[in-house]
Amino acid sequence: MKQKRIRLFIDKRTSAGQREKIIYLAIEKGCNTLVLSMDDKYFEGKNEDYKYIKLINNNALFIEAGGHNLRMLLPRKKYFFQRDLFRMDQGRRKTDHHFCPTNPRTISIVSENAEQLFSRVLEKVTTPRIFHLLPDKNHENTWCSCPACRAFTPPEQYLMILNTASDALAKLDNEARIIYLVFDKDPQAQGIIPRKNLIASKKLT
Ligand SMILES: [Zn+2]
Repeated sequence: MKQKRIRLFIDKRTSAGQREKIIYLAIEKGCNTLVLSMDDKYFEGKNEDYKYIKLINNNALFIEAGGHNLRMLLPRKKYFFQRDLFRMDQGRRKTDHHFCPTNPRTISIVSENAEQLFSRVLEKVTTPRIFHLLPDKNHENTWCSCPACRAFTPPEQYLMILNTASDALAKLDNEARIIYLVFDKDPQAQGIIPRKNLIASKKLT
């Protein structure tokens, strides 16, 4: 029988000492799964003798990757030369949240980066692998309003990026799944069909 995963999301800025404490407390409360940011130092594979890593191993915790990692799919430094990759807000391109998903170049960069990010962490993620790709916190609806994107709602724009990332993931592991956030009141109204390896979630659990 598949074991239900009770998750604890860990902020990548959490120190090794703090991790040990919060993981210990979480295990006591029945947590069996840790979700670590895709750029978390855990995935670098060094420092294996940290106590929190021993805690993970001794308790055979499931490891998942992701969090508010959507922004990692498009490096902000690209703004200097390719502003149209980024979202438009009142006629101006901005780097603060998300991107312009109807630009084919955005999609090709997202695809490339997704593949790189997933393959970097793949080995350390427990099978069947679960990833989390969440939009920026409190800015779930802050997406692109360029002439091409205007026809799509923020949840639809989010799904375009998720579908791209899902395709990249399926190439590496077609059993893996991505959990994403449904933040629209009426998800059925979305005009973009989610890929089969995407799992909609109404809240982070
Ligand atoms: Zn756009």
